[in-house]
Amino acid sequence: MPQKGLLVIISGPSGAGKGTICKSFVERNDCWISVSATTRQPRIGEVEGINYFFMSREEFENKIADNDFLEYAEVYGNLYGTPKSRVEDILNSGKDVILEIDIQGAMQVKERVKEGVFIFIMPPSMEELKQRIIKRGSETPESLSKRFASAFEEMNFISKYDYAVVNDTVELAVKKVESIITAEKCRVGRIIENNVHIK
Ligand code: 5GP
Repeated sequence: MPQKGLLVIISGPSGAGKGTICKSFVERNDCWISVSATTRQPRIGEVEGINYFFMSREEFENKIADNDFLEYAEVYGNLYGTPKSRVEDILNSGKDVILEIDIQGAMQVKERVKEGVFIFIMPPSMEELKQRIIKRGSETPESLSKRFASAFEEMNFISKYDYAVVNDTVELAVKKVESIITAEKCRVGRIIENNVHIK
């Protein structure tokens, strides 16, 4: 039987750099990064179906009712969710799947997929994290302070994850994620079970 893909969940506070790490990881490795659905407005340069599937709240709520999401959460006033069927198909085809999602969503996946690998991306320091969110420049003053406040709170969730990767440089952080995935694939339990169960 072909080995199923690994479901890798990458999260961490806003500004920790998980998006950059995931992008670089996906460029260097044969895997698939899930495209989430969201009710947030597209930012300049964001493309439908590449960055997100942008939709109305009503459309999103219909998908929740149809049980179309592996997980979903409200983040900074917008809904975000992982479309389930594509993730299942790709895992079954043997390819690894990366989910770059918030902590609430990661905790839902943890309940449903016991074989998932949960990686928490940490900023080198909280001051650095603050600077990164400011530099991004895509936030209003109100959403900036919301993001700071939840970033501080989110650091408390680190103990729920399997691994923590400090993002001091993207190159090094990506190498650490690659090492984690390599090691996970060598786990005896995983080789014996060779299975991913989504409840
Ligand atoms: P942004 O609006 O900056 O693109 O994303 C805001 C937050 O939503 C980030 O922490 C990002 O990881 C998270 N996010 C993106 N897609 C999903 C998803 O499908 N599910 C959940 N739970 N969070 C998501």
